[in-house]
Amino acid sequence: MELRDDLGIAVIGGGLAGAVLAWRLTRMGHPVTVLTGGATVTRDATAVSGGLLRAFETDPVTARAAALSLAELRADAGLRELAGYREFGSSYLLPSGSTAARIRPVLDLVDELLPGAAELVDATELKTFRGLPSDTLAVVEPAAGCLSPARLRTGLLAAVEAAGGTVRAETVTALAPDGELRTVAGGAERYRAVVVAAGPWTPRLLRSWRLPDQGLRAKQIQYTIGTTDRLPPGMGAFVDETSGLYGRPDGPHRMLLGLPTDRWDVDPAALTPLPELAAQVAACAAERLGLADWPGPDARTATAADCWAAPGGTGGLLLRRLPADAPLFTFTGGTGGAAKTVLANSRDAAAALVEACPPS
Ligand SMILES: Cc1cc2nc3c(=O)[nH]c(=O)nc-3n(C[C@H](O)[C@H](O)[C@H](O)COP(=O)(O)OP(=O)(O)OC[C@H]3O[C@@H](n4cnc5c(N)ncnc54)[C@H](O)[C@@H]3O)c2cc1C
Repeated sequence: MELRDDLGIAVIGGGLAGAVLAWRLTRMGHPVTVLTGGATVTRDATAVSGGLLRAFETDPVTARAAALSLAELRADAGLRELAGYREFGSSYLLPSGSTAARIRPVLDLVDELLPGAAELVDATELKTFRGLPSDTLAVVEPAAGCLSPARLRTGLLAAVEAAGGTVRAETVTALAPDGELRTVAGGAERYRAVVVAAGPWTPRLLRSWRLPDQGLRAKQIQYTIGTTDRLPPGMGAFVDETSGLYGRPDGPHRMLLGLPTDRWDVDPAALTPLPELAAQVAACAAERLGLADWPGPDARTATAADCWAAPGGTGGLLLRRLPADAPLFTFTGGTGGAAKTVLANSRDAAAALVEACPPS
């Protein structure tokens, strides 16, 4: 069969990571082909993501990427519109035992990148929450919010196509160590560089292609959206590290709430909701927020997997070179929070990719 030799860059996966990276590369003038997969798209992390954004994270590398991403979004009305950005504020309740001195360097970093964005408060100011440890501290951001990762992906892939890039709804079935890839359609293709941005599918795909999995792992995430008549006024998004509960408003009487799962190395295409976890979330919502009537009869539980970086791999999505002679990379490992960091991470990744694989 004839080999299609392309001087552009191939991106495997058209989730948020692949779409934003392809958009960056296109804007830099590099021809891009995105292979978005088949039926898996509707069940990917991007389709289900809560899209919560804030600048503060306890890890400084992640906080830097999150603050830069939020700054870019806030400065770009077109991007905000495309992403369906909504602002309602955020509180990050730190684990018991946290001290102002330990958190100060990250707060200073966030303040440098987004002046005045975040402030440290103590338990007396966290009136929405019940039963908090008395030493609880929280980082409050009035200008945080959420976007729709699915809308942003669709909009940016359309922008890639409008600028002359190629987006094909095809599944890649093979990637050889020499860089040659094959799709379901059967043809062999070679590119200047290939980036595997297949989110939680990435570790399995790499292993099936006899490439190193880079310590990446797929983990399940689940949340429930339900109704309550008791939504406290001014309720924004929050992460409560003292209980694990996280959430955000989803309309005047609706709240998205979740707890972390312990389901590792899952098959992203074969996930089902965990009813016992949904029940734990309801119990925690009643205890921490007094939402005894949540989630109500019209509740919807959503679940999907995301790709976790190996322990110690922080900072959100990262471009990682596969140890092969060919120009092969991954761009994944957002560890459950890539909607926050993708704008900054994709800018860095696109620059690093072009430097590693300049056009001939
Ligand atoms: C339930 C949930 C809630 C979340 N909430 C938040 C949040 O509130 N805030 C936040 O910052 N982050 C959140 N995240 C994280 C963030 O949304 C994800 O990190 C991000 O969407 C991941 O994008 P991705 O492109 O890496 O992966 P995905 O969106 O999973 O995309 C991977 C793509 O690869 C494609 N693919 C797979 N195999 C192949 C193949 N062989 N060939 C071609 N394509 C293939 C799939 O079809 C899929 O479209 C959440 C994630 C989940 C799962």
